[in-house]
Formats: sequence, C-alpha cells, structure tokens
Amino acid sequence: MSKPSPVQLPPLGSHMSIAGGVSLAPGRAASVGCTALQVFVKNNNRWVGPATRPEEIKAFPEELKKAGISIKNVFAHTCYLINLGSPKPEVVEKSVAALKDELVRCGELGIPGLVLHPGAHLGTGREAGIAQIAELSQQIIDETPDVKTRILFETTAGQGTTIGHEFQDLSDIIKKVARASRVGVCLDTCHIFSAGYDIRTPDTYNATMKEFDRVVGLKKIKAFHLNDSKFDLGTRKDRHEHIGQGFIGEEAFRLLLTDPRFAKVPMCLETHKDDKTLEEDRMNLATLRRVCGVAESK
Ligand SMILES: [Zn+2]
Ligand SMILES: [Zn+2]
Repeated sequence: MSKPSPVQLPPLGSHMSIAGGVSLAPGRAASVGCTALQVFVKNNNRWVGPATRPEEIKAFPEELKKAGISIKNVFAHTCYLINLGSPKPEVVEKSVAALKDELVRCGELGIPGLVLHPGAHLGTGREAGIAQIAELSQQIIDETPDVKTRILFETTAGQGTTIGHEFQDLSDIIKKVARASRVGVCLDTCHIFSAGYDIRTPDTYNATMKEFDRVVGLKKIKAFHLNDSKFDLGTRKDRHEHIGQGFIGEEAFRLLLTDPRFAKVPMCLETHKDDKTLEEDRMNLATLRRVCGVAESK
C-alpha cells in the first residue's frame, strides 16, 4: 500500500478470554491489534461466581490504558444460562440474580454495556415472553440504581422459542423499560442474517438498516458482533463462521464497517479461535481491514 487510507474504521476487536483474571483480557486484545473488546465478567457457564477481586477492579482500567483501548469500546456478555423469558420460577429467580450480579460487576469495572440474549419463552408465547423479559429487566434496573451499565439486548437467530429474531421483539422490550439510558441493542451480523435479514449487497444492507431504524432506531445500537454465518439466509441457525468464509461474505462487512452512522460503535468478533495463539482473530481482523481498503497497522 503506497499511501495512507482515508478510511477510518470503527473500534474493532474480539471476545477475549478472562482466564487468570479480567485484567488480562486487554493485553490479549492489544496483542492482535484490537481497539475494542468483549469479555465475560465471570464464568459464562455458572450461575454464581466469586466476587471480582479488588486488585482486578483496580488493574482493569490500567491494563486498558496500556492496551490503548478506551473503556467506551469495551462491552461484556452475560453468562449463557440466563433466561428472563423462562416460565420456570426457579430459572427466573436465578436469572434475575445472575443478571443483577453481572451488571454490578460491569459497574465496578466501568464497562458501559452488558450483552444479553433476550430469552426464550419455551412455549408460553411471544407476547408473554416479551412482557416478562421487559418487566424483569425493569426490576433489575430499578434495583441497581447506582450502576450505569446498559443491558444490550442482542438480536438472535431465532432458534426454538428464542425472542429477538425480529427487530420488533427488541423494540417491544425496550419500549416497555422506563429507563432508556439503561437499555440498548447489540446487533449480531450472523444472527440477523440467519433470522432472515439480508445485508449482502448495498441494496439489501440499506433496506435492513432502514427497517431497523424504523422499528428500533439505529441510535439504540451500542455494540456489534461481527460473525459470518455457517448457514444461509433465513435458516434460523446460530453458527458463526470466519469473516468472508460463510454465507454472508465480505461485502456485507465492508458496508457495515464503512457506514458513517456506526463509526464510533464498538464491534467485536465472536468467531471460533485458539485462545492461546489468537491466530484466527489476527486473520479475521486482517480480512476486515482488507475489505475496507485499510492497510495492515502491524
Ligand atoms: Zn453474538
Ligand atoms: Zn451466535
């Protein structure tokens, strides 16, 4: 590349392991050139976990600074067990406790957004599921008044009875929550594509974003998950593929990353990788820069 590119990419990163402590994640992100970061704030397959150690809470912002990653471009993902839409009281009780706990952890670390799969109604129906998810979210937000972290409801692929595969689902949840400053959306490219929203050409990309804007509002998007899809449009299957190697293809990512409306919204990969070498992250980040016409930074 002979001359510097005029393209300014949004904050780009990846989901990083917190093995050994959350303060180790920024260094891992920096080692592959990330400017954004997603983490879990505790073990992602457990309902409860030990409190975040004070030294970790102190070290996290220091490590982010060293990594050159702004806290504005960090977001967390909840543990996978939470289901605010469940008809089972014991699952609801554990889900509420876990989400509250994770919001408090995010607050301690200064993380502005916590990504949550809205939930699955397991047979009670969409309306009942949405009403319950909104009501419990409201309750959790009311019970954590000192926390500024937003709950970011994630678009889903629509497997089984999951809610969130239609933009209207997210709109209906968010509109029912009184504190607008505590809610937002994380848009996952694989999930919306799998759910039937095409983004592969300028025309389809623009139509999908226009639809999102009409139904939810683009300003509600506070984070993106950048994943290609192992399955085709509308199959409602949630299987991530490396960027450009799935059914979505490179062009959609170019359209998204060069969309000036999202220039400041952090975007993270959630593609399969070796947590030790991070080789796939390097590859996917390089693909993203290349399709946007940006030369390798390192
Ligand atoms: Zn995702
Ligand atoms: Zn997924």
